Amino acid sequence: MQTIRARQALLPDGWREAVEIDIGADGRIAAVRSGCNLPDSVTDCLLPAPGNLHSHSFQRALAGLTERRGPGGQDSFWTWRQLMYAFLEKLTPDDLEAIAALAFMEMLEAGYGGVAEFHYLHHQPNGQPYERLGETSHRIQAAALESGLGLTQLPVLYSRGGLDDQPLQGGQKRFGCDLECYARLVEEAEAGLASLPDDARLGLALHSLRAVAPHNLARAVAVRPDGPLHIHIAEQMAEVTAVEQAYGARPIDWLLDNCQVDERWCLVHATHMSAQETQRLAQTRAVAGLCPITESNLGDGIFEGRAYVQQGGRFGIGTDSNVCIALSEELRSLEYSQRLKDQGRVVLADGHRSAGRFLYDGMLAGGAQALGRDSGALQVGKLADILSLDGDSLPLAGAGGDEVLDAWIFAANASIVKDVWSAGRHMVQGGRHRNREAIEARYRKVLGRLRGSL
Ligand SMILES: [Zn+2]
Repeated sequence: MQTIRARQALLPDGWREAVEIDIGADGRIAAVRSGCNLPDSVTDCLLPAPGNLHSHSFQRALAGLTERRGPGGQDSFWTWRQLMYAFLEKLTPDDLEAIAALAFMEMLEAGYGGVAEFHYLHHQPNGQPYERLGETSHRIQAAALESGLGLTQLPVLYSRGGLDDQPLQGGQKRFGCDLECYARLVEEAEAGLASLPDDARLGLALHSLRAVAPHNLARAVAVRPDGPLHIHIAEQMAEVTAVEQAYGARPIDWLLDNCQVDERWCLVHATHMSAQETQRLAQTRAVAGLCPITESNLGDGIFEGRAYVQQGGRFGIGTDSNVCIALSEELRSLEYSQRLKDQGRVVLADGHRSAGRFLYDGMLAGGAQALGRDSGALQVGKLADILSLDGDSLPLAGAGGDEVLDAWIFAANASIVKDVWSAGRHMVQGGRHRNREAIEARYRKVLGRLRGSL
């Protein structure tokens, strides 16, 4: 049994002072007490640690390498994708594990308690499966185990090169599966999860409407009758136009017309929505998986935030390309993009919560739902996904209640995340991950070789 003490904590019924939380050996919260008699030296603030609902961990090693214009002078998501394909052709399973461990460690240091890893890099560079079909899935699991981050693994179905049914080409060959291969992959991923702590989860993912043919959608969804179900959708206008031309409807309208979209689903990006799609998606109780830093980096566009949340739409946050793993900056980018778009202030909030509190509450609920993870609140019985903010840091000087969140999200430059627990595993202590030295040293070696070969 561990006991954590804090000056303030965000509990389900609001902020409380002088709080003690007991964590049981099962990784769950065993007791929560407030108004305790604590020494003055206890200054930190406790929050539930949210789930990161969308990551491609291998892309972490590509960060900072794609910020130059290409020869055509017309850089876009699609030219970035070509660079990403070229990069991943060089990755070995050892590389993948080293990069994922680094990314997962950084997620914990940023304050995340879990991650939904949207994993599509299944095969060898020529498209041949590895000797064990689930080889790379198992590498992701090994990285999760080493880092201590809670894993929701999402093996991805990717079975064609585009809406016109063209075959997979070049870098895409590493992703490809037909349905039979996909079902076996999911089975192997599930078998591998037995070696992880029991907070680990398995879900499904369909890469996109581009990569999964309509007749395969329902069959893929049926591979598992429950658990999280994720899809990339409406990230780029070129994709919206192409789907409209091929299927006669915009992507989200088409998906809602052709699949039973409910709480299982996480629609990653959902950037480009008509007013009708915004309203329809908000009513499904599915989660919109927003990835504000990556969407900014890739020039995707701005989410229909105000209308979506006003209609009760659920959202969560993902680090996606992992170009910069910074939890507070994701929320800041989300709110600032809405302010720039609407030429207003405090856009994503309601009458009784500040912007920071509204965004954080949304992220907690959406993350827990999209990860299928029993977390998101400092409440007895929930998984102990918890972070502490440094109460002695300057941004938090004099801050109480929701101001703590506003100061962290909008006014702190350096990280003020001090300690992080994932299902009770105390992996970040004093701002630093317990295994940082070994994970970082291995990553530096991998990066040196990969960058040298680009
Ligand atoms: Zn993605």
